[in-house]
Amino acid sequence: MTELEKLKKQIKEEASQNPEKFFATDVLKEKGFSRGKCENCGMYFWSSADRRTVCGEPECGDGYTFIGDSPTDREFSYTEAWELYEDFMNSRGYKSIERYPVVARWRDDTEFVGGSIYCFQPYVV
Ligand SMILES: [Zn+2]
Repeated sequence: MTELEKLKKQIKEEASQNPEKFFATDVLKEKGFSRGKCENCGMYFWSSADRRTVCGEPECGDGYTFIGDSPTDREFSYTEAWELYEDFMNSRGYKSIERYPVVARWRDDTEFVGGSIYCFQPYVV
């Protein structure tokens, strides 16, 4: 197990035992969310749905339910969808930058940074 994996495991255990220390649980509760433990995988999760017993990960629920069930009436190509999203974000004051590869020097298990949480690691796990 790598040092990063050990750290993740340690934080996960601590966060599971004391979520108030790691998450804005008071805000979640105030917004009507409740904490549950998945009866399938054992992971804790927050949900606004009453009586939810599984975490919502595809393998614990009904799989990827959006496949074949589009949320729009119109079909978009990948590029069209991206451009509409970009227009939406630009109209709200955000600015696109050209894509460029970033080497994830802080991780020994990946070569490049994905468009995700990687950019904030190890401060966010
Ligand atoms: Zn689960």
